Amino acid sequence: MSGIDWSKMITADMQRELDHRRELEQLEHQHRQLERAQRGVPVSPPLAFPLPFLCDRCHSACGVISEDLIEAYFEGEQIACLSCSEATTLRRAVSATMTAPMAVFFGTVAAEMLGASTRVATLTIRKHEFTEVDFAALGVPADSTLLKVNYTPNGPIMPLETHGNEPVWEPRSKVFLYGMPLGDEDQAECQFSLLISYIPHSPEEASVCSLAQAYQLFLAGRWGQMAISAITGLELTLKQYLRAFAAGRNLEPKDKEYLTQVYPQFCDLYGFARPEDDLVERVLRLWGSRDRFAHTGRLPEGYSRDSAAGQLCAAILLFRHLRRSMSRLQTPISSEQAAASRSS
Ligand SMILES: [Zn+2]
Repeated sequence: MSGIDWSKMITADMQRELDHRRELEQLEHQHRQLERAQRGVPVSPPLAFPLPFLCDRCHSACGVISEDLIEAYFEGEQIACLSCSEATTLRRAVSATMTAPMAVFFGTVAAEMLGASTRVATLTIRKHEFTEVDFAALGVPADSTLLKVNYTPNGPIMPLETHGNEPVWEPRSKVFLYGMPLGDEDQAECQFSLLISYIPHSPEEASVCSLAQAYQLFLAGRWGQMAISAITGLELTLKQYLRAFAAGRNLEPKDKEYLTQVYPQFCDLYGFARPEDDLVERVLRLWGSRDRFAHTGRLPEGYSRDSAAGQLCAAILLFRHLRRSMSRLQTPISSEQAAASRSS
């Protein structure tokens, strides 16, 4: 008498039910594991870590970004490298840092001119156990734009970010880390360093949000989308600040002409130093890249990571230049004031 093949007795409906139950069991198991996850508490208080920018010639640390340095750059001052003594500018050094060999740590440096911060903390991870890390508890506001998260183990256990059935691709404010042993060392736990660079959310400044998004896209190597976001942020700022001034002077600028025609007139009238030519040229190239990408889906031939870094850095500096000019005016200009200045 032959045995019964039970697998042939399972109907499609039964199979679906079994699959469903198995899936639920798996989800419950994952949930229980995550509930058991220990909360990652820093070994010592998290620290703010100002990123250095590097000399564009010798790649040694050249300084950290400060409001004074930005101001000096707009006034045409140069920086002397302490290592090789070559003169450079803030724009050149910061652009070069975005793609330098140490970019894995310092590549978000230009974002500091948009208000980005970097924090570092030391935490503990246990072998084969989950640790929950809430970035907000480390001082990173939950709605920030995350630019970089780096885990560096200080021992033989690697903290691996985990996910449920559906991987989450977007950066998130809370992570579950699994302690994956490296090699055969019998060590139950070790410390690891966590570095987070982020731009706090600015609900009142849509242009900062666009530029922050452009930075994320730059880091992801999506340069076409980066150009679109960066120019969206700049165009918004140029028009918001200069539309009334242009109207008062009977100018009818189209897009880039706000930068090439209206802004120089504005700077001259109020006695503000214009942004340096190299900066404007790079922003115009970024604008050209944006147009090309938006209309054809392709970037200009030979577009590289260096081009993207130089253009994004220039866009951020131009944004700062515009904001500086506006903050120097006691009150926003009206079209009547602009008309009066034209006739005077
Ligand atoms: Zn140098």
